[in-house]
Amino acid sequence: MSSPHPTVAEIDLGDFCHNLDLVQRSIAPGVKVAAMVKADGYGHGAWPLSRAALEAGLAEVFGVAHVDEAVALRQKGLDAPIIVLGGCFEDRAEEVVAYGLEPALFSMKLAEAVDAVARRQGRVVSCHLKIDTGMGRLGLPPEEALDAAKRLSDLEGLRLAGIMTHFATADWADKAYAREQLGRFARAVRSVREAGITVPFVHAANSAAILSMPDSHFEMVRPGIMLYGAPPSAEVGAEADLRPVMTLKSRVAHLFDLAVGESVSYGRRFVAERPSRIATLPIGYADGWSRLLSNRGSVLVRGRRVPIVGTVCMDLTMVDVTDVPGVSIGDEVVLIGRQGDGVITADEVATATDTISYEVFTRIGERIPRRYFRDGQPVEVDR
Ligand SMILES: *Cc1c(COP(=O)(O)O)cnc(C)c1O
Repeated sequence: MSSPHPTVAEIDLGDFCHNLDLVQRSIAPGVKVAAMVKADGYGHGAWPLSRAALEAGLAEVFGVAHVDEAVALRQKGLDAPIIVLGGCFEDRAEEVVAYGLEPALFSMKLAEAVDAVARRQGRVVSCHLKIDTGMGRLGLPPEEALDAAKRLSDLEGLRLAGIMTHFATADWADKAYAREQLGRFARAVRSVREAGITVPFVHAANSAAILSMPDSHFEMVRPGIMLYGAPPSAEVGAEADLRPVMTLKSRVAHLFDLAVGESVSYGRRFVAERPSRIATLPIGYADGWSRLLSNRGSVLVRGRRVPIVGTVCMDLTMVDVTDVPGVSIGDEVVLIGRQGDGVITADEVATATDTISYEVFTRIGERIPRRYFRDGQPVEVDR
């Protein structure tokens, strides 16, 4: 199939639903799934994926980081609960109320600001009290949970929909610290519930905790990376039956031959030691294809793995196809995904660029169109 843009990210909604189903099979019946679709669904497209999840009945709640992300989903037509995990600044309280968003709250000042707007508009905002049990990022200390829950319950414009925390090390095999966090959280929740305060949804588990800490599931779980088919880390989830959702593809734009001593790209970082055939691909660091892949990563051409040579440029990357017979202009090149017997995972790219799959996905730029598929067949979606 021809495509106006030579480099595309193909997203398979069937694989996404497969991963959501794996979440469902990892939790007890009745536990809700809040699908994390922040950062445009980890670069995969928040709205098409949210819609697919809802239609399949595999997620009921969605999570984003910022108010803008939630507003965009509402404007597309998502009418399920949306938790705004990063909370909001007080000047965004109007939108939180108007769009019926569920902010994570981590200060009483913020709670009061949202409450004031809600009451003025005659609405009640469902909110989630965020407790920092050791992540060292966002949230009230566990000792303040009971007092904060009491005060929130007294505010007429707010409804305490949940209490939440986030793990710092759930993706480690060594669970000692995550268990400490879980203990602190469980104690804080107990103190709130024993005071007679209703908390419909206690939630803590990210993908790693879903896969490796069943007693952290409570009433709702918050999967992110596993929905996109990458394991949370090398230590947790490597054996899980996850299916990568994204294939990053390009095509050979140009081919040329190098004599011994001739070089490729800026800084002459690759100099041919044998007569070589080089293919140029229309993807570069402006597309989120890291410059750290210079002389480092690999891609798949004709089902064969070939090395990236020379410096990755803003818009172009060169690969050495000397050992692959018959490469032609227009040939498909897979940068992340499968081709023939070859596979390159987001984790492989992450390792080569000293980061994690999360960053590889979220960096894939806006210049790269997302195309949607279901079980291999192209589907039209409203992006
Ligand atoms: C991003 C995020 C998650 C999901 O984490 P994964 O490791 O991608 O599963 C869960 N909870 C919060 C608060 C988050 O910010």
